[in-house]
Amino acid sequence: MAGVPEADEAPEGGGGIRSVLTIGSLVSPSGNEVHFPELDGKIIGLYFAANWYPKCEAFTPVLAAAYQQLKGRGAGFEVVLVSCDEDRPSFERFHRTMPWLAVPFGDLRCKKRLSGRFQVEGIPRLVVLAPDGEVVHPDAADLVHRYGEGAFPFSAARVAELEADDQRKYASQTLEKLFSVDGIKKEFVTGGNGQVPISSLVGKTVGLYFSAHQCAPCMKFTAKLAGMYSSLKGKAEDFEIVYVPMDKEEDGYLRSCSDMPWLALPYDGAPSRALARYFDVREIPTLVVVGPDGKTVTRDGRNLVNLYFDMAFPFTDAQIRLRQEAEDKAAKGFPQSLRHRGHRHELSIVSEKSGGGPYICCECEEQGLGWAYQCIACGYEIHLRCGGSAGTG
Ligand SMILES: [Zn+2]
Ligand SMILES: [Zn+2]
Repeated sequence: MAGVPEADEAPEGGGGIRSVLTIGSLVSPSGNEVHFPELDGKIIGLYFAANWYPKCEAFTPVLAAAYQQLKGRGAGFEVVLVSCDEDRPSFERFHRTMPWLAVPFGDLRCKKRLSGRFQVEGIPRLVVLAPDGEVVHPDAADLVHRYGEGAFPFSAARVAELEADDQRKYASQTLEKLFSVDGIKKEFVTGGNGQVPISSLVGKTVGLYFSAHQCAPCMKFTAKLAGMYSSLKGKAEDFEIVYVPMDKEEDGYLRSCSDMPWLALPYDGAPSRALARYFDVREIPTLVVVGPDGKTVTRDGRNLVNLYFDMAFPFTDAQIRLRQEAEDKAAKGFPQSLRHRGHRHELSIVSEKSGGGPYICCECEEQGLGWAYQCIACGYEIHLRCGGSAGTG
């Protein structure tokens, strides 16, 4: 068979994007076959996704918004969906939410070949190809999340530029600048008794709380955060929290506000979205902590509150190191193993070094890190403190 190319191989000559796709037609969102689509000379994003996966569902509109912007300004960019859907109706429904073409659902061979070629293991995945078919970026999904259309053309040079911009922004960050990201200047936040000028927060440690009413983990964490907040207020610490609403409905926003004893940005999506993008907030609840100098202390406030409660304050590396040392000492006082009412096997104590790691506590359903009681066989883990509620024996 020497010298005879297999059907799966790229056709001779040509090169470019067609040698990657190797098929003459794609399908439009309305289901029409498109012969020889206009892909030549463009940057192509191969979008591997499936409708049944929430991360794909969430990413699709983000990519679509960037795509429309790029189209609007005439950038040479196209996206081709390579669906990982399991049946045709799901594929068609999912594809109709997108403004770009797709590899035909029935072309399993092409899909398999592309997945293999680009070693697609997780989705969503956006493989960006240059007009000559070379890979520009193996997975630009993160970049699109972070920078939207600004990520184009996804090259190493562009990424370096964006990251340098970020570094400059973060280095010169002040609280006032944060509330005017993307040129939307806010001078006040809403407090219980009316408007509070942002200038009055300068010099304090400020938690930016990205959350929404219709979100079970948020409601749970809000209660914990409120406990920490009142404890810090009781100690007269220079601390404030500002609710950054991720609510999709004003009703939910108003209810969130009535649940929260702290300040809030108004229900006007733009400043909140700008802040979420600036801090690259991917999930809620998220607690970003800004220090008295206006610089970011941590974006991991949620985890730190779960771990150390009010002892996490002021959330600095030095404070967290102290807490970790204290935890290491305290862990020695906990039993090496115990039984927990939620699990039928004995749990043993682990630290981050001995098999622990980030986990979700099966007792309080919040994040944990470092010390835990764990059943290795089942992956059942709880905070050391949450083990106490079960008693030993
Ligand atoms: Zn717990
Ligand atoms: Zn078990």
